[in-house]
Amino acid sequence: MADVRKVCEQGKLWDIEFPIVELMGQDESTGWVEKHLHPNGLKCPRCGADRQQGRVLRQTGQSRLRVYRCRCGATYNLYTGTVLAQQHLRPAQVVLLLRGIFKGAPTAALSQELGVGYAALLTLRHELQAQAEQLQPKDALPDRQTESDEMFQNAGEKRQAAS
Ligand SMILES: [Zn+2]
Repeated sequence: MADVRKVCEQGKLWDIEFPIVELMGQDESTGWVEKHLHPNGLKCPRCGADRQQGRVLRQTGQSRLRVYRCRCGATYNLYTGTVLAQQHLRPAQVVLLLRGIFKGAPTAALSQELGVGYAALLTLRHELQAQAEQLQPKDALPDRQTESDEMFQNAGEKRQAAS
């Protein structure tokens, strides 16, 4: 990594590799991911008991997540039962991954930024997008309908302006 002050003086900011994952707090990132993955709170996937009814068993190595053991005997963590299970991502990486996907960032750029392999990231991206499509309300207007309505309105405005 380049000397930040020197690089700023020379105006070559693009030479810096931003250590963004390291700058994001584990607790804040975990809280954000939990809120979005588990809007009703993290619960035991087997019996549905709140995590407060279990205990913290250990912490995972790479992703540094708390592993809970429920009173029913099941063990689980923040990612259990989601597409993120078995991916060993840190919560900060998940935040940036989701942000990148929603912003339409190229997978190669995300792979570099997050330090996650391209193939794994591509699979994850497809799974997340498929899941997001399933979650769309069925009675929502398809995009094509909305677009043609807008075109119709625009055409009307143009006609008025011309006359
Ligand atoms: Zn349980």
